Amino acid sequence: MKDLIIASRNEKKIEEIKEILKNLNFKILTLKDFPEIPLVREDGKTFRENAIKKSQECQRLAGKVVLAEDSGLEVDALSGAPGVYSARFAGKEQDDQRNIKKLLKLLENVPKEKRKAVFKTVVAITSLDGETRVVSGSYSGWINFKPKGRFGFGYDPVFVAPEYQKTFAELSPEVKNRISHRAKALKKAKKILAV
Ligand code: IMP
Repeated sequence: MKDLIIASRNEKKIEEIKEILKNLNFKILTLKDFPEIPLVREDGKTFRENAIKKSQECQRLAGKVVLAEDSGLEVDALSGAPGVYSARFAGKEQDDQRNIKKLLKLLENVPKEKRKAVFKTVVAITSLDGETRVVSGSYSGWINFKPKGRFGFGYDPVFVAPEYQKTFAELSPEVKNRISHRAKALKKAKKILAV
C-alpha cells in the first residue's frame, strides 16, 4: 500500500478529508507525521495557487504522493471576502469565533436575499514524479444572522445549506461530508488516486 500525505495540520480538516477518502488503497499520513516539514507560507492570491504550492513543496520534501487542499468562504456582499484570507480574517490564524464575529458585524444590516456565499475547495495532488493534478468543488448557500449548531469548524455555524435550511454546523458530519465543497473536490481527487 502506497503512502499518501495530507498536507495539513488542521485537525478538523484532516478528520473530514480522512472520512471522505476512506476505502482508498493508500495509507493516509498527515503533516503531523512529518514535524520536520516546515509550514508552507500560503501567500498565493487564489486557492489554486496555495493548494499547488503546498502540494509541490511537501512532495519535494517528503518524497511521497501528497494531497493538499486550500479552501475558504466567498461572500457576495463583501466582494468575495474573506476568500483566501478565510483562516485569518480577524487577524490571528484560525480564530473561528473572532472570524465569525467579524463576518456577522460586516453583514449586520444586510438582508437575507443579499447574504449569498460560497464555500470553495481546491485540491492539488502531486505524484511521485512531481506531476500535479488539480480539482475543485464548491457549495453555495447564505450567511445566517447568528451562529447555530455544534458540528464542523470555521464558518460552519453561520453558513446555511439551502437544501436543508440548516447551518453546516447543525448537519451531522455524515451529511456535511456528503454534500460539502470539500466532498465534491475530494470525490474527483479519489478518481485520480484510484488509477
Ligand atoms: P486554509 O487552511 O488556508 O485552507 O483555511 C481554510 C479556512 O477557511 C478555515 O480556517 C475556515 O475558516 C474556512 N473554511 C474552509 N472550509 C471550511 C468548512 O468546511 N467549513 C467552515 N469553514 C471552512
